[in-house]
Amino acid sequence: MFINGVWIQEGSRGTFPVTNPSNGTVVRKVADGGREEANAAIAAAAKAFPDWAAQTAHKRSALLYQAYQVLISRKDQLAELLTLEQGKPLRAATTEVQYAADFLLWFAEEAKRIYGETIPSARPDQRFLVRHEPVGVVAAVTPWNYPISMVTRKLGPALAAGCTVVLKPAEATPLCAIEMVKIFEEVGLPAGVVNLVTGSDPKPIGEEFVTNPLVRKLTFTGSTPVGKMLAGKAAGNMKRVSCELGGHAPFIVCQDADPVHAAKGLQLVKFLNTGQACISPNRIFVHESMVEAFKNTLVERVSKMKAGNGLEQGVSIGPLVNDAAVAKVDAQVQDAIAKGAEIVCGGERLTANGLDRGHFYAPTVLNAIKPAMTIYREETFGPVAAIVPYGDDDDVLAMANDTNYGLAAYVYTQNLSRAMRLYEGLNFGIIGINDINPSGASAPFGGMKNSGIGREGAREGISEYLETKLGGFSI
Ligand code: ADP
Repeated sequence: MFINGVWIQEGSRGTFPVTNPSNGTVVRKVADGGREEANAAIAAAAKAFPDWAAQTAHKRSALLYQAYQVLISRKDQLAELLTLEQGKPLRAATTEVQYAADFLLWFAEEAKRIYGETIPSARPDQRFLVRHEPVGVVAAVTPWNYPISMVTRKLGPALAAGCTVVLKPAEATPLCAIEMVKIFEEVGLPAGVVNLVTGSDPKPIGEEFVTNPLVRKLTFTGSTPVGKMLAGKAAGNMKRVSCELGGHAPFIVCQDADPVHAAKGLQLVKFLNTGQACISPNRIFVHESMVEAFKNTLVERVSKMKAGNGLEQGVSIGPLVNDAAVAKVDAQVQDAIAKGAEIVCGGERLTANGLDRGHFYAPTVLNAIKPAMTIYREETFGPVAAIVPYGDDDDVLAMANDTNYGLAAYVYTQNLSRAMRLYEGLNFGIIGINDINPSGASAPFGGMKNSGIGREGAREGISEYLETKLGGFSI
């Protein structure tokens, strides 16, 4: 933990192990903190806030830029650590570290573009001015599926805006967060500006975050139930909240699409991070005229995927986060099969060649998915491609929107009118049109409905950390 500029190796609850999900070995032990550490970290952040907020935007920008440079210089080491604690293949880990760095660079730039406004008044003797000020102490909770990029996606804009921060990374993956905080320390962020509280039990830390009056904003990425609970409590204490939660992305392959191209795209985005992403396609709507061609290409590619330790050459699919995740994925698959789904490939836990020491599930393709199946409604967060054949454009739009989630959606079509109709008609925050990676530091990321509140990255990202202050001047 890192509180008020001091590293703490052992918390009030001692230490806890971080294990490698591909083989169960302990990677490192980290300090196990609780409510008292969260309280001390918030107090440190509150004390550091006035001076940090008073720094020039140029100074804050320069520090973020330095952090960006150091992060880039350590890309390979950090990617390896990321694979060790989270499991994704090294190449994907390297891409994530770059993505993490992108947010630091973007918000180093945005720090200098927090513009105010002058507004004409109806009274001749009055002038209106608007300025934007940092909200204050930010409590940030990050997930285990993207252990470093979710940290910079929150801390980048918070620090750029002039906020101070207390970060609580996921208990499964605190190691990259620790390394990131070390970088902030190295480049010279003053004590208390960034604080880190690690812990094996998030509940007491979360409770302090949402009740302590010194915290002015909660930013959370994780599951919808936890996000709703924390957002509810934070709102009760009138804290600002942004949440990036679960998803249930539709992936629509229209009748005019190239099924081979679409299947290649689906394979890349569906099995990314072993399906453990909130933007992972969960219902793959394929026009009935091309189900066969789509399925064949998909199976051909999926069967070449190699599961294993992400540090090993040739591994393209890593483990799930824990045994509970394996059981949840398998339950969805078995439920679908029992209700009439066709199992095209996979559909079982992987245990051969030492994989039983980790949490592996075979990349799976299911066809003939129906609304009554659990997988049609609930987020899978695992390597299962669930194909839903459809016949009509209007039906597919209604089916795609028939979910409580609203994060990402994907469309494959070569027809411009259809692309535009679906882009406008889909109730999701992020729509990829023939594009499986509609994201980047400059693009607003976030969802509608149960997928969350607010946007991260982009121009919008920094506004989540700013208050608006009006000045009315009578002259
Ligand atoms: P998942 O089910 O995918 O692990 P969670 O929402 O449980 O998703 O976890 C996302 C983040 O939320 C993690 O940092 C986790 O520690 C944190 N978290 C989980 N429960 C709580 C809680 N009660 N209070 C605060 N943070 C929590």
